[in-house]
Amino acid sequence: MIDYQNILSSITSNCVSIKDKGKIATYIPELANINASKFGIYLVDTHKNSFHSGDAQELFSIQSISKVLTLAQALGMVGEAIWKRVDVEPSGDPFNHLSLLEFEDGIPRNPLINAGALVIADILVSNLKNPKKDFLQYVRRLANDETINYDSTVAASEKKTGFKNYAAANLLKSYSNLENDVETVLDFYFHQCSLAMTCKQLTQAFYLFMNHGKCQQGITHLTIGQVKRINALMLTCGFYDEAGEFAFKVGLPGKSGVGGGIVAVLPGKYCIATWSPGLNKKGNSKLGMKALEEFTTATEQSIF
Ligand code: GLU
Repeated sequence: MIDYQNILSSITSNCVSIKDKGKIATYIPELANINASKFGIYLVDTHKNSFHSGDAQELFSIQSISKVLTLAQALGMVGEAIWKRVDVEPSGDPFNHLSLLEFEDGIPRNPLINAGALVIADILVSNLKNPKKDFLQYVRRLANDETINYDSTVAASEKKTGFKNYAAANLLKSYSNLENDVETVLDFYFHQCSLAMTCKQLTQAFYLFMNHGKCQQGITHLTIGQVKRINALMLTCGFYDEAGEFAFKVGLPGKSGVGGGIVAVLPGKYCIATWSPGLNKKGNSKLGMKALEEFTTATEQSIF
């Protein structure tokens, strides 16, 4: 039996002792106020045993990690039709690059870059009765936690400086790949990104991706085929233009966010989340990536 607790504790003491923790994202002003020395890690396995270390139960802004949850809800509701409006190829570009969108006639490369996530947000706005409320309820149900909420200060902060997202949404609209108003879609998108969650809550919400589409309560939300698609997208597109590096070093499907969170799954075995707000040059949590690399090295478990 692998001693997960011992491994998580020793990774935490290694990581907190590292001086260069990366740089906090400041382009969303509210994110700049975070304490850079925070570090947390949480794991839940298929038998619902959990292990954690550090600041694993503290709330942080999940940002782009939310793109996997909106994709799951949209795929569950609308099915394969969503692939007519968004592709499934890695972009090899930063998350907010717009050039490919012009080259490829308004079809975003994948649902985990901003333009693709905006199309998914548009699909949810079209299909949900009360989009923000219903998406929040979906995340709460997945995680079995009614306390999860948006951080409206973070959402408002991003709205003020979200010029690139406005540009992306307007480009999509110009190619007729947004059904709803730019403002409405962006309001939904800024809120999904502002979700405040802990490492523990993230592992609960992502449990279904390692458990064949069933959440911790045993409810089926996605088919096995849909989970395959989402995990494949996390592996190939989940880390901006560093997805190859993450697959190479860590070997798990996962998703990062500029709030410093990372969540990853080993299907059939466990779901793990880390949080350390300092980012590397590609926008992924510096210590989070290191921690997960150490974790899969120590456990000798990965999808490969
Ligand atoms: N809300 C952020 C943005 O759109 C998300 C970025 C991220 O976490 O990758 O810029």
